[in-house]
Amino acid sequence: MMTDTLISKPSMPSAVEAPVERSRDVEPSTALGRSLDFAQDGRGGEAREGGVSDAPPAALAHADIAALFDLPFMDLLYRAQQVHRAHHDANRVQLSTLLSIKTGGCAENCGYCSQSASFETGLKASKLMDHDAVVASARAAKAAGSERFCMGAAWRSPKERDMPALTAMVAEVKALGLETCMTLGMLDRSQAERLAGAGLDYYNHNLDSGPEFYGEVVTTRTYGDRLDTLENVRASGMAVCCGGILGMGESRADRVDFLHALATLPKHPESVPLNALVPIAGTPIGDRMIAGGEARIDDIEFVRTVAVARILMPTSSVRLSAGRESMSQACQALCFLAGANSIFTGDRLLTTENAGGDADGALFAALGLMPMSAGA
Ligand code: SF4
Repeated sequence: MMTDTLISKPSMPSAVEAPVERSRDVEPSTALGRSLDFAQDGRGGEAREGGVSDAPPAALAHADIAALFDLPFMDLLYRAQQVHRAHHDANRVQLSTLLSIKTGGCAENCGYCSQSASFETGLKASKLMDHDAVVASARAAKAAGSERFCMGAAWRSPKERDMPALTAMVAEVKALGLETCMTLGMLDRSQAERLAGAGLDYYNHNLDSGPEFYGEVVTTRTYGDRLDTLENVRASGMAVCCGGILGMGESRADRVDFLHALATLPKHPESVPLNALVPIAGTPIGDRMIAGGEARIDDIEFVRTVAVARILMPTSSVRLSAGRESMSQACQALCFLAGANSIFTGDRLLTTENAGGDADGALFAALGLMPMSAGA
């Protein structure tokens, strides 16, 4: 289930919602008033003495989030940038590398994913990668400037027989001085504790979308299953990486629902990957989006979503993930202005293309950005 992080999803209406579309439950006047205060306090979350909030506000309503989406674009970006600068270095971006350590043949049916065994996408399934090959990739990622090394396996959940190999990989990658992250599907409490004990810093498990749209995406596991895994990860002491996919045909109201789900978790995820759907032929969502001529989400709506995520989760790393390779430099710059501060590097994200090192080097030079790992 790592693919969650890298690909994007499905669906029906239009992936490119008109910017003026409002959430299903907005009461504009009161909601807007509340959201302006909320965004203006520079935290977006619970107003605490001393400022930093990684917990959800006491009563975050869908209407508050919808009102943020409805702000004039310039006002929304200004507020997001204020929140961003209050908690992060605006000119630094974290570099992470993602490696698929077990590709394809997955038992889940996520409708956007080329790795599901349910769909004919031409992807060849492989076994769990050899330990030394994984460590060699991690070494190369570190040499290229990555701070975090993410390992993804296309599983419903890890099998017990694979746990010793997984914990050994974590321990050795960690020993290289890299932050470690894995995405392996659902985890029970014991598996989460063993991975944490081996030195795993982050576990990725995406909500994919909001609870209302979720049924359009996958039917082999429930939203509750996902929340259970997130709870097990939290309880183990690992940091949580949790986000989703935009442009699967969901409405803006669904995007509001999705960010509400993330921002009202008991603690905000430390990392929030936002993927733009990369439609893959042969997957239900990919086929639907391609047939409808909606191959990607509207750039402005994507940037709006990044900005609202930044305001709602001020201290989280908001990561541009899948779909970045098809974004212009200008769009990526707007995403950074909106509060994105983490990207995946390398030429591939699991099974989709990614903006490569040369393109990222040019982008960073053009924008005066520095990797977080570089000296001040
Ligand atoms: S089908 Fe499997 S590999 Fe693909 S996103 Fe779903 S859980 Fe992950």
